[in-house]
Amino acid sequence: MLDFVISNIRIAGRDRPLDIGIKDGRIAALDADLVSDGPHEDMCGCFAFGGFVDSHIHLDKACILDRCRICEGTLDEAVRETARAKAAFTVEDVHARARRVVESAIVNGTTAMRTFVEIDPRAGFRSFEAILEIKRSYRWAIDIQICAFAQEGLTNEPATAAMLDQALGEGADLIGGCPYTDPDPQTHIRWIFDLAERHGVDVDFHLDFDLDPANSAIPMVIAETRRRGYSGRVSIGHATKLSAMPKEAASDIAARLADAGIAVTVLPATDMFLLGRDRDYLVPRGIAPALLLAAHGVTVTAATNNVLNPFTPYGDASLGRMANFFANAAQLSRDDDIATAFDMVTRNAARLMRRPHGLDLGAPADIIVLDAADPLSAIREVRQPVAGWKGGRKTFTRPRARLLYPEG
Ligand SMILES: [Zn+2]
Repeated sequence: MLDFVISNIRIAGRDRPLDIGIKDGRIAALDADLVSDGPHEDMCGCFAFGGFVDSHIHLDKACILDRCRICEGTLDEAVRETARAKAAFTVEDVHARARRVVESAIVNGTTAMRTFVEIDPRAGFRSFEAILEIKRSYRWAIDIQICAFAQEGLTNEPATAAMLDQALGEGADLIGGCPYTDPDPQTHIRWIFDLAERHGVDVDFHLDFDLDPANSAIPMVIAETRRRGYSGRVSIGHATKLSAMPKEAASDIAARLADAGIAVTVLPATDMFLLGRDRDYLVPRGIAPALLLAAHGVTVTAATNNVLNPFTPYGDASLGRMANFFANAAQLSRDDDIATAFDMVTRNAARLMRRPHGLDLGAPADIIVLDAADPLSAIREVRQPVAGWKGGRKTFTRPRARLLYPEG
């Protein structure tokens, strides 16, 4: 009856290795010692899960170090340099760079991602067109959500609002705003929510991206989320101001975010690269206190954000590596906290994107196998993926490194 069996895998919450039976692209059986005449693939007791989920990445402006200068390493410089570069983006250029990152994400075990795509008078619809094609052509391996994104303001450039409106009618899945680059952040936030309501889509803000605890935009986003009945449909990225507040103040905001149903994404690679540039010693880490947020019931995720550009001149779209980087920077040590770091790049990120996740009976057979015994060793040791399936079809293999001992 089964099409094939992935045998001898470990999954979270089960003590003994199991077999997964696949039928018509779905998980049809999950048991020890499954009996089936179909093909078997022995996974040697490795850990399997539903795949990494990247809740925040910018495919359109990845891999542009060849055309940008980084002198200061500040946020202002990154926005400025990228704005200059994107005026010259072509559809083919964006497609080629995005493809490189998506293929790296796939072999690093990512099965879903949310990408921001800048749509404004400089980018036109060229990046959007390229990323729509990437979404379509890689559907066999990864589900991509497209967030139409106003990186450079709205009230200062109202043409952008009309372009975002058009993109939401032509295949964008949700809308993203960036109040800190707008001269009128409050109106920016309202306009983004207006567009979201008009199209019935979710909202994702880049927010509070500095280390000054004053003038947070979070209260405004909470108020608009409540006023419009948008609980569970709003997320914010960076929120690094929270890292500059005393614990009591951050806890107060955490409780209000949880109550409003607003998710928070930390972007450790970017936050640590761009912030604290005014300091030449004891440079702050500048990462929002994700564990504190999680303790108050906020859905927290960690994500890639940028790859090889002035916002983050590093990266390989590996979320196992990013979770390890986050855990190290956030000084996590307890097993429970490392488990939270794993959740931040898997099921929490899936919840933020409002998609199912997990190896459940009847679920699509989206399965990633890591060369690890469990999620803790996966994060602590940055264990590599060895194979992946999407809808029951094998999407990649990644053979283990093999030592060539001398004779004897
Ligand atoms: Zn971002």
